Amino acid sequence: MPDTELDDASRTPLPPGGLALVATPIGNMDDFSPRAVATLAGAEVILCEDTRVTQKLLVRHGLSIPLRPLHDHNEDDEIPGILVKLRSGAKVALVSDAGTPLVSDPGFRLVRAVIEAGLPVTGIPGPSAAVLALTLSGLPPHPFMFQGFLPPRAGPRQAAIARIKAMEQAGLSATLIFYEAPHRVAETLAALIEGLGPERPAALARELTKRFEEVRRGTLASLLAGAESDPPRGEVVLLLGPPEDAGQGAEDLDAALLAAMAGMSLRDAAASVALAQGLPRKAVYARALELARENPRTD
Ligand code: SAM
Repeated sequence: MPDTELDDASRTPLPPGGLALVATPIGNMDDFSPRAVATLAGAEVILCEDTRVTQKLLVRHGLSIPLRPLHDHNEDDEIPGILVKLRSGAKVALVSDAGTPLVSDPGFRLVRAVIEAGLPVTGIPGPSAAVLALTLSGLPPHPFMFQGFLPPRAGPRQAAIARIKAMEQAGLSATLIFYEAPHRVAETLAALIEGLGPERPAALARELTKRFEEVRRGTLASLLAGAESDPPRGEVVLLLGPPEDAGQGAEDLDAALLAAMAGMSLRDAAASVALAQGLPRKAVYARALELARENPRTD
């Protein structure tokens, strides 16, 4: 198709004084769109996690653009200077080492500050391990809930899994997506089994878009057995299908609340059911209020 003015304009969408979030490859370096290259070429500065990683990408595309590190530890300090640059009309791009910026990567605080300052922000879409893993997993694609990394330490991880269980008991029925470091996969699978049971449908997607791309599908228990006998190497996404008895939890909660509300005040009923089912008290109280409205007492 011949180049037109419209094509050119649509390739370099970054307006002066704007921030562009540019997705980069998650393994296969050919997964970098012409629009992404053009946007980086038009930027005055590129914010990135590791300048060495981004420099390689620039060299590959024959670009020479100043790089400035932006990571969790300096993001707040960097924001005022970046806003000054944007206000003076500079075009700024943000990339991460791999995949889509902000997705378990830095940039959220910057994007929020740019929006609050009323400055333009745009994005060049591209790879994200979470979405590719979801589509390859064979698990229901929606609704899905992206969880990112679970806490690495056992206690906080257990608490995070307990919160997921509470949400499921309250009716959440979604495919869950986790990022995980390869050396922690087996211990995370074991923690998920302890919290959510061994029979949950699950998938483990590793080295996506790379030479040793592999998707293992099964139950949490079978994936754990596989991870022990043949530890997955490289980068890994873990996915859990919705619980088989999804919705059952919500019905159980309503039934327990209605029974409790027949014999005690709404506040006490909510507190006792929350305690009995290990659910957050606030959420149970909110549901009790809804039930009271739907089922007004006649006495
Ligand atoms: N921003 C990235 C994205 O959009 O996917 C994610 C960055 S996060 C710091 C890195 C994690 O993403 C890895 O630990 C792994 O869980 C997952 N990941 C990244 N690349 C991957 C790949 N090629 N295959 C499988 N998982 C990958």
